[in-house]
Amino acid sequence: MDLEELKNKKPKRPVMFYYLIAFGILMVLNFVLVPWMTEGRIKETTYSDFVKQVDQGNVEQVEVQNQTYTIYYVVKVNGKEQICKTGIMDDPELLARLEQKNVKYGAEIPKQQSPFLALLLTWVIPIVIFIVIGNILSKKMAKSMGGGPGAMMFGKSNAKVYVKSATGIKFSDVAGEDEAKELLTEIVDYLHHPEMYRDIGAQMPKGALLVGPPGTGKTLLAKAVAGEANVPFFSISGSEFVEMFVGMGAAKVRDLFQQANEKAPCIVFIDEIDTIGKKRDGNMGGNDEREQTLNQLLTEMDGFDGSKGVVILAATNRPDSLDPALLRPGRFDRRIPVELPDLQGREEILKVHAKKIKIADNVDFNAIAKAASGASGAELANIVNEAALRAVRDGRRFANQADMEESIEVVIAGYQKKNRVLSEKEKLIVAYHEIGHALVAAKQSHSAPVHKITIIPRTSGALGYTMQVDEEEHFLMSKEELENKIATFTGGRAAEELIFHSITTGASNDIEQATKLARGMITRFGMSDEFDMVAMETVSNQYLGGDASLACSFETQTQIDRKVVELVRKQHEKAAQILKENIMKLHELAKYLYENETITGDEFMKILGE
Ligand code: ADP
Ligand code: MG
Ligand code: ZN
Repeated sequence: MDLEELKNKKPKRPVMFYYLIAFGILMVLNFVLVPWMTEGRIKETTYSDFVKQVDQGNVEQVEVQNQTYTIYYVVKVNGKEQICKTGIMDDPELLARLEQKNVKYGAEIPKQQSPFLALLLTWVIPIVIFIVIGNILSKKMAKSMGGGPGAMMFGKSNAKVYVKSATGIKFSDVAGEDEAKELLTEIVDYLHHPEMYRDIGAQMPKGALLVGPPGTGKTLLAKAVAGEANVPFFSISGSEFVEMFVGMGAAKVRDLFQQANEKAPCIVFIDEIDTIGKKRDGNMGGNDEREQTLNQLLTEMDGFDGSKGVVILAATNRPDSLDPALLRPGRFDRRIPVELPDLQGREEILKVHAKKIKIADNVDFNAIAKAASGASGAELANIVNEAALRAVRDGRRFANQADMEESIEVVIAGYQKKNRVLSEKEKLIVAYHEIGHALVAAKQSHSAPVHKITIIPRTSGALGYTMQVDEEEHFLMSKEELENKIATFTGGRAAEELIFHSITTGASNDIEQATKLARGMITRFGMSDEFDMVAMETVSNQYLGGDASLACSFETQTQIDRKVVELVRKQHEKAAQILKENIMKLHELAKYLYENETITGDEFMKILGE
């Protein structure tokens, strides 16, 4: 193991456990085995047999057990003794018979339980058993609640303490994200040379909040800080504070900060802080436990002395749901955005992960990075791994360019479906549909719109797949560009209408995206003549897909809907017009795609240019 977890010693089984097992074995012996063994030696006979044996003078001794209605007797034949038993019968002559043959006889004295034993059985043993079981259960509970064995230990934080070099992750393992690295480097530097900062009177931020979409390397960055800093690093996930009982989370926060203060200078990292840092709302009967935990966190962050060198890092992908009190200066006063990587960042991330696998020297990472536009760091890591897996599947010892290209599609669109065969007609429709998109895009932008199109069904459910290129990153989109995008979305359906004069369900995703974009233009970007610069919608959760909520009157909503339809219809018509003008190229390209199942951007542009 490469990380040292201080609180991970396995508790020993209680001694009581072994006693219980021994006790159980004894019981089994006593009540099952012993009677079974002795019973085996006693022969059961009929009453008439018994009388016969007595008459023949073979019986030596008789004992009557009235409690169990059994007669035990010992028969001696040729010097061999045999114990036999039989049932009691109402036989008044029995005694006379026995007397006559001079047999020793008698009856057992009914057993009397001693009062001491009775007390023991009815009171003492059950109570002892209860206490033992109770003890074991409570120990288990205490353990599962984060305490160790022994006394009940509620409210212990189970933060893992990493020590330097234990995680092995350095800043060099995190590609791209230069701004984030720079800010974090400063914090690490402060912890190493606090005098320099104190001399000049500068105060380090008490906390820094890493925000960004999932899979962009927030947790990774925090681990890298742990690897670079020479100080203890406490790592805990927000969900670990969430407990069943009110007050437990708060106690854990208290414990965490107490530990941190003892170990200062050190770094505390709270991952997914939105689980405990959600906005407190005025609702009655809100989540008391969560609020108490948050309050405790706020208090603790105020309470400690920043100059002692405790730095709090936290990560979240829902910064807008955090309580404003948490974000004010003095608590998390530094906000470090960790965004989706740009082209260069993607290339670097691919290279970092490619170091871990065997890969051909001539792989063009730039091309892969271009094709994987919009992918997060986690997806890129996955792409590299899929490429290695594919190489193994094909029995090769190195991954190559083709592996990488195929794995982009795998990661984004799922595996190829081997057994799903499209009918010829369906395949033709899909080919025209995909070419429709690409052709509309190409005619509007006059450049290669796609990296590659395939019409092999994928496990994600997509029947065809288009890998878009976006050569240069952009941050601003003009109204025309957005309109062109909508036209491109409608291009697939427009091609179906033009060629087959019928429409299919294949456009559902296009419709969704076109609508979303058109709505955004009207309600958020102020791109309609009617509403000017008035926001009709607000977006929350920008890093997690972005849910929009309407903020306008009913009449306006109706108007917005009308505008959206108008906008999309206009672009749909434009797309249809473009395709009609280029119908020969549409046929040619669709035929090529239909026959080859794949067309690259270069092939596409070549056919288009001819
Ligand atoms: P999150 O931002 O959701 O916390 P993680 O930090 O857990 O994401 O990243 C998941 C994985 O993605 C990492 O383990 C790493 O393999 C990969 N990854 C993400 N960003 C980067 C990056 N900038 N450089 C290298 N690998 C990265
Ligand atoms: Mg994370
Ligand atoms: Zn489509």
